[in-house]
Amino acid sequence: MSSITIEQVRRRAEADAKTYGYYLTPQQDLLAMFLEGLKTNEERYGYPSCPCRLATGNLEFDRDIICPCDYRDPDVAEYSACYCRLYVNKAVYESQNLPEVPERRPVEKQQRAYGTPMAKQPAEAAQEKAAPPKQQTAAKPVVKKKLWYCRQCGYVVYREDPPYVCPICKAKREMFSEIDATVEFSG
Ligand code: SF4
Repeated sequence: MSSITIEQVRRRAEADAKTYGYYLTPQQDLLAMFLEGLKTNEERYGYPSCPCRLATGNLEFDRDIICPCDYRDPDVAEYSACYCRLYVNKAVYESQNLPEVPERRPVEKQQRAYGTPMAKQPAEAAQEKAAPPKQQTAAKPVVKKKLWYCRQCGYVVYREDPPYVCPICKAKREMFSEIDATVEFSG
């Protein structure tokens, strides 16, 4: 698992924005949340997948949403900001009015993240393949997923923890509540 500081994530994003003539979002609370999301994803998956989208944990499936994603440049050109609104153009930065940016990622790719088991990282898979057969296998940690819903738009998602930003209405993580999916049978 790679370890990275928020400052490193920030510097990398600032350098990338500068290279392409973009700016980081002028809303400091959003910026802090996105940097934290990128850091968490990098530590979890080994790469900084988009903080506003669900990743599968399989690099091949997630390659297009490693930040900066494949969709950033066309989104900034068309809507003045990327999907998350982490990267914005000068006009948005100065006005501080964040635009609505629709999802450009194809639906088939989005669907892979739903119900796809966490894939092994290449190094882990290679190590396992090379190891001699084991007599007993140790219990693997279980990823406990829960149902979350956005109190602002009703979007429901099944994952470990609520998304940083609602992919539908862009509400913040605090707007997500857990759904108690316990079903009781009587009689
Ligand atoms: S939408 Fe923005 S924050 Fe998300 S991966 Fe693309 S560039 Fe990064």
